[in-house]
Amino acid sequence: MSMQPPIIAANWKMNKTVPEALDYIAGLLKEESTFGDRTVVVAPPFTALHPMAESMEGSSIRLAAQNVAWAESGAYTGEVSATMLADVGCDCVIVGHSERRSLFGERDEDVNRKISRALKAGLEVILCVGETLQERESGNTLSTVERQLWKGLIKMTADDIKKIVVAYEPVWAIGTGKTATPEQAAEVHLFIKDIVNAIAGNGQKGRTVPVIYGGSVNEANINELMSRDGIDGALVGGASLKLESFLNIIRFVTG
Ligand code: PEP
Repeated sequence: MSMQPPIIAANWKMNKTVPEALDYIAGLLKEESTFGDRTVVVAPPFTALHPMAESMEGSSIRLAAQNVAWAESGAYTGEVSATMLADVGCDCVIVGHSERRSLFGERDEDVNRKISRALKAGLEVILCVGETLQERESGNTLSTVERQLWKGLIKMTADDIKKIVVAYEPVWAIGTGKTATPEQAAEVHLFIKDIVNAIAGNGQKGRTVPVIYGGSVNEANINELMSRDGIDGALVGGASLKLESFLNIIRFVTG
């Protein structure tokens, strides 16, 4: 396992009203003292960000948005800017989730602009990359991930890259109950670290980018995944919606 504190992030997607979110977060805060070295991140829908930030004040749990506009302000109906996210108390933002790419037409170029905006507003970024089933089966897993990283991180400095976590999320494993094997995930994680080092030049000074795994992570598979070299945490969708199962994922044990 990596020397960096493991990151366990919940992506609630389009789930939970404000009362439901506050109820969950109250339960999570009660258990905070048991998290040990784990960095816990929760990404609720936009509507719950501000009330959650208020109820989490003073806690070490980090608040993430699930998306951000590539523009700063103006005539962009329905969009939410990075400055607005920082203003309501967000620490970070998920960018380039595969659902955004496949359902809402987000391209690598958009991902790059969103990351720039987020970093300028002082937010950290969880950049999602990953191949479709067709890309994996045609032997294009690594080339897909490499393209997403180079295009997503183009013009980023080594200092910018220090504020980025990469989430490797094979599209065929998201919400399907199919998880990449720890070997499959670890291979891509180590590749991602190499590519991001190349993008950052030598400015990272021995640091490698944290890479977390997403795709049907649950209480039953987290221990094995987290015991692999190169897997620095998890981005959890469906299994994060129930507090008890997310707590059990946070409390994973290895070895
Ligand atoms: C996700 O949406 O980031 C995700 C990994 O979903 P799930 O855990 O439900 O596969």
